[in-house]
Amino acid sequence: MRIAIIGLGAIGSQALLHLSQQEGVQAVGYDLYSPGHGFGASGGENRLFPRVGTDYENYTELIDYALSVWERLEGDSGRTIVKRAGYLAVGDEAAASRSHIIRAAAAGGTPARILTRAQLQDEFGFQSYREGDIGAFDPTGGMIRTDAAIFEAARAAEAFGAQLHPWSRVTALETTPHEVRLHLGDQTHRFDLAVVTTGPWVHQLLPELRRLVHVHRPTSAWFLPKAARTMRGLPAISREGQQQYYAAPTFDGASLKVGYGGLRQQNLASAPEPAHTLIDPDELGEFPRILGEYLTAFNPTPSRIAHFFEGYTDSSRPIIQRTHDRVVVGVGFSGLGFKLSPVFGRLLAETATDRPGKLLGPLRESIPSFPL
Ligand SMILES: Cc1cc2nc3c(=O)[nH]c(=O)nc-3n(C[C@H](O)[C@H](O)[C@H](O)COP(=O)(O)OP(=O)(O)OC[C@H]3O[C@@H](n4cnc5c(N)ncnc54)[C@H](O)[C@@H]3O)c2cc1C
Repeated sequence: MRIAIIGLGAIGSQALLHLSQQEGVQAVGYDLYSPGHGFGASGGENRLFPRVGTDYENYTELIDYALSVWERLEGDSGRTIVKRAGYLAVGDEAAASRSHIIRAAAAGGTPARILTRAQLQDEFGFQSYREGDIGAFDPTGGMIRTDAAIFEAARAAEAFGAQLHPWSRVTALETTPHEVRLHLGDQTHRFDLAVVTTGPWVHQLLPELRRLVHVHRPTSAWFLPKAARTMRGLPAISREGQQQYYAAPTFDGASLKVGYGGLRQQNLASAPEPAHTLIDPDELGEFPRILGEYLTAFNPTPSRIAHFFEGYTDSSRPIIQRTHDRVVVGVGFSGLGFKLSPVFGRLLAETATDRPGKLLGPLRESIPSFPL
């Protein structure tokens, strides 16, 4: 069976890797740029992951599978993809009762532990805390290096026999009862099935998904510490409550990358263009407040700032399903997709080949079927 994977970002590169290892499958991947580029949903170098407590039922089992895939790629390439620097979640009282990590830490039985405001100040004094704040520290969480994760997944897939077409825009998708045709300008490539993982470019090939997936343009900003020692042992961070933000140290340990709720920024975009990754100074949004009130150990002027893009669904659940006998889509990862990208890639591969495995049973049930 010949299967095309259109879009080799976080999700598509993992679908390609899984499909390239399937008996009887010839997997062929296409991307607008070169795998590991920074223009779409996966740019900006790092992504955060906790290892306990998100809203997927068997999340720890799923993230452990994802980590095992990256560890294998690290072993093969000698390149660092995952850094287990820990994950610190903080919230005011109301937010803490909704936080999956804080609830999991409070329930016990996981490596995560609860921290009072005084303990937070004592152990993690690089940010400020408010009256009523509570935290949870998961020492087994951390950060994933996005460019290396995608690059190595595509490279490993190629070593398993997949074909790669970087710098190749699929301009249209045509289905017939017998095949699916990919048009690349005046060329036509024929397949038995296509997997569409075009991330925030979703509407270009699948305009009918416009009503289900909204493309936003969240901003990330990088800040240098006032004192270099602040960066020592810094974990990934998230804060919920009146002021929400998340942050992670860069892999070179030089600066802290900060972002806040993509959906709340309401920067709707049509489709990513490299020119749209640059920003105007008046688009600093909530960063001055976050730096001025919370991340006070950092220089408040960003050393770098850029827009990225992501497709969101109303429920924040991704769309992973067949839209046609010969087309499977994996889009709308809603600001949450990177940490489980090996899982979602495998789920897409299992959906494409109709070979469901046991590990993903509960996940399959928790992803809704969208009215397509
Ligand atoms: C700022 C920001 C912060 C985030 N933080 C986190 C986090 O901390 N933890 C977490 O788990 N998740 C996080 N996410 C979410 C996560 O990064 C995304 O869910 C994930 O990267 C989605 O990957 P994707 O493969 O869907 O999209 P992409 O990685 O953008 O891949 C889509 C690919 O399709 C290609 N393409 C598009 N159109 C075509 C075409 N016509 N022909 C050929 N190729 C095409 C593009 O070139 C691109 O490579 C964050 C997202 C953003 C934007």
